[in-house]
Amino acid sequence: MQPIQMVDLQSQYRQLKKELDARVIGCIESGAYIQGPEVKSFEADLGKYLDDAHVIACANGTDALQIALMALELEPGDEVIVPSFTFVASVEVIALLGLKPIVVDVDPRSFLLKIEDIEASLSPRTKAIIPVHLFGQCVNMKALMAIAKNRDLFVIEDNAQSIGARCIATGDAKEMSGTIGHIGCTSFYPSKNLGCYGDGGAMISRDEHLAHKIKMLANHGMEKRYYHDAIGVNSRLDSMQAAILNVKLPHLDQWNQKRRAAADKYDQQLSSISNVLIPARVAWSEHVFHQYTIRVTDGRRDELQKYLAEHKIPSMIYYPVPMHEQAAFNKLVRRRVPLLQTEKISKEVLSLPMHPDLGDDQITYICEHVAKFFNS
Ligand SMILES: *Cc1c(COP(=O)(O)O)cnc(C)c1O
Repeated sequence: MQPIQMVDLQSQYRQLKKELDARVIGCIESGAYIQGPEVKSFEADLGKYLDDAHVIACANGTDALQIALMALELEPGDEVIVPSFTFVASVEVIALLGLKPIVVDVDPRSFLLKIEDIEASLSPRTKAIIPVHLFGQCVNMKALMAIAKNRDLFVIEDNAQSIGARCIATGDAKEMSGTIGHIGCTSFYPSKNLGCYGDGGAMISRDEHLAHKIKMLANHGMEKRYYHDAIGVNSRLDSMQAAILNVKLPHLDQWNQKRRAAADKYDQQLSSISNVLIPARVAWSEHVFHQYTIRVTDGRRDELQKYLAEHKIPSMIYYPVPMHEQAAFNKLVRRRVPLLQTEKISKEVLSLPMHPDLGDDQITYICEHVAKFFNS
């Protein structure tokens, strides 16, 4: 059996090495390092993949969220609803722009924000919602978009962990995650389902006017060179990173399928262990398993993690401290609902190794050790 890794970026590189090396060298030889043809073709191809949405590449997923919020032209003190159980970026950018994060709770089985908490958190200053499609499946976008439409709120999807998942939105047909709200934001951080070899990100929109504004904001607020119509930022995707993503994008669906197959095997082997709760799969969304995250009950999570590590099985805690308990945010975020599930699951979640090249023998080894821990 190969050593088990949380994420296996080397195997993926070996499989695509010839193509990747040629493309990166080609990029260096071309001299087009910024906004070159690789970036343009990546934006076009990702847009096509996302059922003909506009795509604007940028420097990373956090910038994508920030630029998306900037494009909405909100006033300082305006409120943005966001789950507390998320990666920091989703809340950080709200605070950075002088807006108020209003945090909500999550469902303890799917880890996705509770729709009923949105209604309970609204105020006359509520302007936007950031649903986080955590661990690879989408928030109930049909229900969320109905509230947003009713209250005239903007929706920015944090799609960093769910690229390629389809979700029921307006009709009964599934739509690509990231294309349902006003703006979708994603990240190409190396360990994401579609990752480059450095930082990268993108903003997605079906609204041509918003897409235009986003493109301008990401490039110093200029349309015509050295004429600045708005205060923007410098956030561009490198040509070399775009070249890597151009090679990888055609494989994304197949990789997501392999992640699902690995998750099925985990489910089968872990579901009978009474101290383990396997991740719920919601009816309205596909799951692309950015993470396979279990809950460990009876306060035994940290002990299990240590036992697994002793047997060379890596695991991670995503996320140990919710945003409303973080030193940087605890005085800043507001809440109008209890965050009981968030506080409970932060102490119970454990993400197991997950990547497209995870072998059946490795999954069996991991599950046998989880079972052994609870039986001994
Ligand atoms: C990775 C991630 C981001 C930020 O992406 P970066 O490219 O690392 O800036 C934002 N939100 C979520 C949920 C993420 O997982």
